[in-house]
Amino acid sequence: MKWTRRDFIKYSFLVGSPLLLSPLFLHAKKKEEQWVPAYEKLEKEGKLGKRIEQAYALFEKCRLCPRMCGVNRRKGEKGFCRASLKPVIFSFNPHFGEEMPLVGAGGSGTIFFSNCNLRCIFCQNWPIAHEGRGKEVQDEDVADMMLKLQKMGCHNINLVTPTHVMPNILNATRIALKKGLRLPLVYNTSGYELAEVVKILDGIVDIYLPDMKYMDSDKSAKYSSGASDYPEVTKKAIIEMQRQVGVLQPDKQGIALRGVMIRHLVMPNRVAGTEKFVRWVAEALPKNTYINIMAQYRVEYKAFEHPEIARGITVEEFMEAMDWAKKSGLTNLDPQSKALWNFYQQRRSG
Ligand code: SF4
Repeated sequence: MKWTRRDFIKYSFLVGSPLLLSPLFLHAKKKEEQWVPAYEKLEKEGKLGKRIEQAYALFEKCRLCPRMCGVNRRKGEKGFCRASLKPVIFSFNPHFGEEMPLVGAGGSGTIFFSNCNLRCIFCQNWPIAHEGRGKEVQDEDVADMMLKLQKMGCHNINLVTPTHVMPNILNATRIALKKGLRLPLVYNTSGYELAEVVKILDGIVDIYLPDMKYMDSDKSAKYSSGASDYPEVTKKAIIEMQRQVGVLQPDKQGIALRGVMIRHLVMPNRVAGTEKFVRWVAEALPKNTYINIMAQYRVEYKAFEHPEIARGITVEEFMEAMDWAKKSGLTNLDPQSKALWNFYQQRRSG
């Protein structure tokens, strides 16, 4: 007799808990547990070690990011990001303020890396990103943090501002894997990445969480420390991320396991180029790419000195951004952004 899921549930109620220990139940449970992180598969194929070597080699004439400083970080030289060879960590903890598919019930296991290769003048984390506050640690310590976050019940390891310490992260991941790490890695980046460096992460990172901050080079140059190439290099990097992991795949509980999630912060006076951004996504990526149109721009750090961005956004600016996204045919907008849009829409019509 073939057992359906309904039969199983019905019979469980009739006979009580003994069935929960039966081979049938255990088989179903085992099937659920079959998901393995990308880096575990790569390690089994014997390729993870080589990737770490490849990544560490980039430190010698540092070209980990589009700044291409060329400094020898192995010898202690520092480039634009001011990072040394060892990672500096500001904090690590379960975080409940990220997108819902990352948070679930257990939180997203964030590790905040200090320093940054982009350094925006409106940065909300400026003491960490601009001033490099935090504690220098070894790769082994980062591995321990990953394992602690897993033990706390987090659903993923969320690497915040990882670009300039990517080789350390890969090494830490391998160390943690050997001690039992099984969570997906979330690569939570400003988006200012080189596509060829992102290729090193193929088969290691399960979830990419890039920003797409601007679509115009004059804006990125002005507000992100001269990074005039930001729109072009970030588009290429995101396309590579999409090629690797595809659109977001959640599990049955809605928790993200794999895929790309893009963040776009709406800025005052259309500085972020939102209309161009959503049009680009609709043309270059699948229409069901997860997009978070964010309303939480705040005037921080040196943004006060630039009248164009020295205020929060208006309701109208957020609503036009969401309207553009909908008109572009994007079908997987962040539910919290949609809820905010609905709220204001009801007030408009009420
Ligand atoms: S990671 Fe830092 S040192 Fe390396 S290229 Fe980028 S900004 Fe320069």
